[in-house]
Amino acid sequence: MTKIDYKNEILRLKKEKNALIIGHYYQNDEIQEVCDHVGDSYALSVIAKESNAERIVFCGVRFMAETAKILAPEKRVFLPAPVGGCEMADMVDEEALKAYKEANPDTVIIGYVNTSARVKALCDVCVTSSNARKVISHYKGKPILYLPDQNLGTYINTVENMDMELWPGCCGIHHRITEKMVEDAKKAHPSALVIIHPESPIAVLRKADFIGSTKQMIDFVGRVQSQDFIIGTERGILYELQKQYPDRNFYLVSEHLTCYSMKETTLTELYNCLLNDTNEVFVDEDVQKKAIKALDKMLELS
Ligand code: SF4
Repeated sequence: MTKIDYKNEILRLKKEKNALIIGHYYQNDEIQEVCDHVGDSYALSVIAKESNAERIVFCGVRFMAETAKILAPEKRVFLPAPVGGCEMADMVDEEALKAYKEANPDTVIIGYVNTSARVKALCDVCVTSSNARKVISHYKGKPILYLPDQNLGTYINTVENMDMELWPGCCGIHHRITEKMVEDAKKAHPSALVIIHPESPIAVLRKADFIGSTKQMIDFVGRVQSQDFIIGTERGILYELQKQYPDRNFYLVSEHLTCYSMKETTLTELYNCLLNDTNEVFVDEDVQKKAIKALDKMLELS
């Protein structure tokens, strides 16, 4: 049997099908290597919208591909991951949220981009981890429900002195980071700067030298002189960090920061998706129209 040269075949099919391959920072290294763009989920969706490609192949999880489809409904969007669930996005029960809205008509519903298209359609505004502080602070003084990440919500409540009601959800990867992990890493690498994603618990964030989205963490490294960094986010970030800063040292705060949903995308899955047009992502038109309003509102306020 002839062995398939997946990388070359992916590049050939991409050209043949006028496809753009985009991938999140938490993807497997070999996937990041073949992507046209690697980034945070919302930034990638904007790239998808602005591209001339007919097909967008989103190496990530389902809510990310849905966001690209919301921004670019005229394009065909594909998700190579067979399931592509996100445990945090899946923690929002759409029916429970509808019931909450009915019972609390004056409450502003603020949704993290890490939510399904149907949940975004129920939100007044969306936020990313990069712009959450700025966007949410516009609503100070109003009753707010923030969903689904209670850790990011607690962080915003703390730094902005707010008291948003928080949906009881979280990202299991970031939520498992503990103060002890940071303390131990600091003992092992005393001169390292600690940089942590705000989906982590507040007690952990208090120990950070810098708190920011994955992209902001990567950019922070470029702005400081430090040689060593303790990293508090999913391990996939190491690929981009080592690529951009090969002379620096990066230490994960724990070896157990792997999002297996993100690792579902393999070269084989990506190849099959491109070859057979499998796993196309669809968003109902009425859902798309409502969800884009929440995303547009975010852009207006950020
Ligand atoms: S890292 Fe967390 S938020 Fe991101 S896809 Fe995985 S479970 Fe979801």
